[in-house]
Amino acid sequence: MLTLGIDIGSTTSKCVVLKDGKDIVSEALYIGGIGTDGPMSARKEAIEKAGVAADDIDTVVATGYGRNRVEDADYNVSELTCHAFGTKFFFDDVHTIIDIGGQDAKVISLNDEGRMKEFLMNDKCAAGTGRFLDVMANVLQIDIADISSIYKQATAPAQISSTCTVFAESEVISQLANGTPLPDIIAGICDSVASRTASLVKRIPIVPSVCMSGGVAQNEGVRSALEKNLGCEIKFSEKSQLFGAIGAACYGYDKLK
Ligand code: ADP
Repeated sequence: MLTLGIDIGSTTSKCVVLKDGKDIVSEALYIGGIGTDGPMSARKEAIEKAGVAADDIDTVVATGYGRNRVEDADYNVSELTCHAFGTKFFFDDVHTIIDIGGQDAKVISLNDEGRMKEFLMNDKCAAGTGRFLDVMANVLQIDIADISSIYKQATAPAQISSTCTVFAESEVISQLANGTPLPDIIAGICDSVASRTASLVKRIPIVPSVCMSGGVAQNEGVRSALEKNLGCEIKFSEKSQLFGAIGAACYGYDKLK
């Protein structure tokens, strides 16, 4: 059985084709979320890479911010449910998921079966989301993917104290003007996102294991600052950004069964 999971986010579209609920046959990720041709391109590429025809797909499940725009989806499922399914696909014992995407951050607590029990979300403020990191990477003229390697060279992380993205951007520009080394500025930016996220996470009981999902999980600077702040190990997979799409495909398999 082939199931297709489509996760249309605020910044990125992700698609996964899954065989029998357990083998990832293909995946595709396109920058460009809702309102762009990202979802269509990701879907086309995932089906082509799987070497099948669109009609060979048994069930299509859409999730993410733009899920209601997938008119032919068999199911529209919330990101919370899909991230829970996607996390279970990789880790059996996770009870707390920290999902940081392009425009929001969520903490999801799971029961022993890996189903969502409770969640909290920050979708009111860009600070503490991928958007904050994207804006800062743009100011510093670096690639978002390079943050992980640059932050490791920091010796004295800068203090980024503004909780507002616009003011924090001015702070970063002042740090540059004062000659603060780039790695120290980047470490300060990662600490700032981690501290915003930690205050959300601490509002519900943190039951181990803890895992990160969403695109920002790939940012080692944020991950390690969060580990320090929360005082626990945070599990992570290289496919963290695909957890929603993988979870959607798993959900489809569950329904077919
Ligand atoms: P959404 O579903 O809202 O589009 P994602 O979960 O796809 O969000 O995450 C998007 C965010 O992931 C971006 O805003 C960016 O900050 C971060 N990101 C994407 N790729 C990388 C990478 N290679 N390294 C670090 N961070 C990344």
